[in-house]
Amino acid sequence: MRIGIIGAGQLGQMLGYAALDLGHECFFLDPADKPPAAAVGPVIQAAFDDRVALAILAEKCDVLTYEFENVPVAALADIADLAPIYPPPEALHHAQDRLAEKRLFQDLNIPLPGFRAIDSTRDLQEAIGALGLPLVIKTRRFGYDGKGQFVMRDAEQFDAAWQALGGRALIAEQWVEFDYEVSAIGVRNAKGDIANYCLTRNEHVDGILRISRAPADDAALTELATTHMRDLLEHLNYVGVLALEMFVVGHVLLANEFAPRVHNSGHWSIEGAATSQFTNHILAITGQAPRPTDNLGYTGMINLIGTIPDAARQLTACSLHDYGKTPRPGRKLGHITIVAGSAAARDRKLSKINEIVTKSSGQSGTGT
Ligand code: AMP
Repeated sequence: MRIGIIGAGQLGQMLGYAALDLGHECFFLDPADKPPAAAVGPVIQAAFDDRVALAILAEKCDVLTYEFENVPVAALADIADLAPIYPPPEALHHAQDRLAEKRLFQDLNIPLPGFRAIDSTRDLQEAIGALGLPLVIKTRRFGYDGKGQFVMRDAEQFDAAWQALGGRALIAEQWVEFDYEVSAIGVRNAKGDIANYCLTRNEHVDGILRISRAPADDAALTELATTHMRDLLEHLNYVGVLALEMFVVGHVLLANEFAPRVHNSGHWSIEGAATSQFTNHILAITGQAPRPTDNLGYTGMINLIGTIPDAARQLTACSLHDYGKTPRPGRKLGHITIVAGSAAARDRKLSKINEIVTKSSGQSGTGT
């Protein structure tokens, strides 16, 4: 089939390679000059809301998908008659607006931190009264990797918080003293076949994912996550891969957000699972059943952010993925994956690699 992928970054690149392996052809749309996925197939260089360019892509292709969640839903609606779009734009609509997303979690009885919609200083005062401090204030739209957020720890930060984010549609969220963070990655096709990857444990630094470990071995949490995932996938009549990020607090999972796409915390599946998230996404959007998601070992993934140090390139017995992007502080340039025979061996290797990457790149470290 001919697959149109909106967005040609590293996720588009990895989706593209999976699609080629399955015998498909890929076309991309992206505003960037020479984006990572240009290595895989032709790129129409255009803005994500360029109706004409989107229509050209749709007319060329049998099915459309996207690799990031800020594609305007209205622009997709205009081309919906030209080719099927998976995942369904309704999922995109919820993922683009933190308030709509949280209300969806509530409707599906998926537990989440307390929250309030904030449109004025008065709303913020009321939220402090209702939810207490600290509070995380987030822009409702276009926030990612911790951007568009302010953690208000005491009432004296009221003016600073409003200065940083006020004037936009916001939400305030209870601060969660979580034990750790996890993501669930699931996939569904139009027939309703569902497969789940094991729960992945994630560490963020400065709001950006740094390290993922799979599996996050906890049978009870895995079962809970699988239930939440199924409820979301079925409610949205979802097709493709979906990632659900959650906070673990004791035996409870609190939903933070979901991404209607393949996800950074699932990159480990390229080497660490019987079928990668990218292959399963392509299978789902082309009407095929998901393939097995079993673990091939204990896997760890480290993001390479801002720079790919030479020392990282010299590492052996691991897989380094270089997205071919121009280095810039805070930019995800690549990742390293290792697969080990035990959780302890995985953690030892991860710790060593993290030390090498952190030391030679000046990245701020983690507790690993
Ligand atoms: P987000 O953009 O919502 O995924 O937030 C980025 C990161 O900030 C999360 O992965 C958490 O590490 C942290 N964070 C976000 N919301 C909260 C919260 N309500 N309580 C504690 N930490 C949070």
